[in-house]
Amino acid sequence: MKKSDLIALAKTLISTSFPALRGMKLKLKIIDIEDYVMAVRLEGKAIHLELSREDAVRMRRNVLIGVLAHELCHAEEDRRHGPLLEAVFSWLYERFPSLETRMERRIDIAVIRKGYGKELLSFQRYHDLHYEPYDQTDGLTAEEIEEALRHSVPRGRAPFRDVSPSRPASSRNHG
Ligand SMILES: [Zn+2]
Repeated sequence: MKKSDLIALAKTLISTSFPALRGMKLKLKIIDIEDYVMAVRLEGKAIHLELSREDAVRMRRNVLIGVLAHELCHAEEDRRHGPLLEAVFSWLYERFPSLETRMERRIDIAVIRKGYGKELLSFQRYHDLHYEPYDQTDGLTAEEIEEALRHSVPRGRAPFRDVSPSRPASSRNHG
């Protein structure tokens, strides 16, 4: 996917499902990285996304939506915490991996609640094909996502093709 299409897709996701991020600037860098697909960080009023070049070329649209939704959930949580609290959390996550696991699982649950469970599952499968497979310390497993999808009805999400930016904000709570 072209960079301009990637940015357009991320912006559509934000306006559809990430009310807490609306009005922020979006910066996307496509870089050569080998150990992860995408990362997000907030800096003032800007969302910085980094995406691996190889994956940007290789990922199909639904896979890309899955990883974008996951990273944007991180961004929403970071925004709620604010920079100071977020620094404290990063410090804690480095020292206590079990806390990081809980955070990643909470983020995946938020992705499913926002209605992107199928895309998250596509991303997990893609990831496990090309990288060291995720286990339950990295977030929800593929089995767990499938299980959640069987029990949940997507809510609070407009059909992806039918995006109206003026749609009222849905519940921003994802964790
Ligand atoms: Zn994550």
